[in-house]
Amino acid sequence: MRWILHIDMDAFFVSVEQVLDPSLVGKPVIVGGDPAGRGVVAAASYEARRFGIHSAMPLARAKRLCPDAIFLRGSHGRYSEFSARVFSILDRYTPQVEPMSLDEAFLDLTGCGRLLGPLPQAAVRIHDEIKSAVGINASIGIASNKLLAKIASGLSKPNGMLRVLPGQERAFLAPLPVRRIPGIGPKSGERFERMGIKTVGQLAGLPRELLAEVHGSWGIQLYDRARGICNSPVLKRDDTRSISRETTLEEDSNNREFLESTLSYLVEKVTAQLRQAGLRARCVTLKLRDSNFKTVTRSRTLGRAANEDHIILATIVDLFRHLFTSRTRVRLIGVGLTALTGESAPTEQMELFQSAASKPWDRLYRGIDQLREKYGFRSILRASSRRSAGAK
Ligand SMILES: [Mg+2]
Repeated sequence: MRWILHIDMDAFFVSVEQVLDPSLVGKPVIVGGDPAGRGVVAAASYEARRFGIHSAMPLARAKRLCPDAIFLRGSHGRYSEFSARVFSILDRYTPQVEPMSLDEAFLDLTGCGRLLGPLPQAAVRIHDEIKSAVGINASIGIASNKLLAKIASGLSKPNGMLRVLPGQERAFLAPLPVRRIPGIGPKSGERFERMGIKTVGQLAGLPRELLAEVHGSWGIQLYDRARGICNSPVLKRDDTRSISRETTLEEDSNNREFLESTLSYLVEKVTAQLRQAGLRARCVTLKLRDSNFKTVTRSRTLGRAANEDHIILATIVDLFRHLFTSRTRVRLIGVGLTALTGESAPTEQMELFQSAASKPWDRLYRGIDQLREKYGFRSILRASSRRSAGAK
């Protein structure tokens, strides 16, 4: 059985501001900027949330709901610094830490019982250490997979801890509103509710074929999620051994072709860098941030380590098509490569058989790399990259 923790700081940006200026404690505080501007709420204290204010809400609206709220611009530098302090605590418990954002991470403590003692108590220690060393509250979900751990931490907020006992996964999920399933936003939640599907238990009652017919591959994921099934691994970050590239679009876009073209361009950039470093990647990550600043990442482990554009691009596009709907207005899009290995590293036996077939590809990409060295990166681009934000 796996032991997965999801750790999420409570109202992180606001909590940091309150540590730096304790006079803000207990007050409705909103980080985001000038309420007269066009920005949105990045974080709101629990006191502000009582007025119905939530993140991604226009600041002007927040001001109307709570005219006395204290509005702060916030500072990314300060938040990264506090984040680094939190992560340095997490790193002491296990190397298996997957950061999801500045204030959120998954930890895989499977097999750490001998070192850390009973794991629920280790989770309490992590919570208390963050509180005493950094000064902010965390909420922690503990479960046998990432999906359930994330839902549990969300339910335990603020400053709580919740464990889903093994064997209780479906019973735990059944009474929850469908919107608790990550990936079901307010709109699709509403649509399910109109169909009479209010709880996750009711969602789990829908046949797989029906979900697949209506929602495609996302429907199949929903079928699993409603049952508490999630096999996605905790991917540890490896700062020095990762290559990534992302771009903030000039205008938020829901144009599928344009976004896929931008992905194609980003893949060309990272694979060129990968080959230049003499490396191959085993894990490919897609990152999307929407117009509400909500960031989602999806990763897939490849059958073998690759440095060829077409292999990595096919994976990225597939991840993208699972995630993207025409309602998503994308603000930032990115591609990351991790689990890097040297090209000459001992390879699996399978690759012996593949090497003959992959030779022409090697030659092709080496040729492209040489052309670029001479005439610049944009001198040769895949046709699929030409509509992208980067190709201009
Ligand atoms: Mg948080």
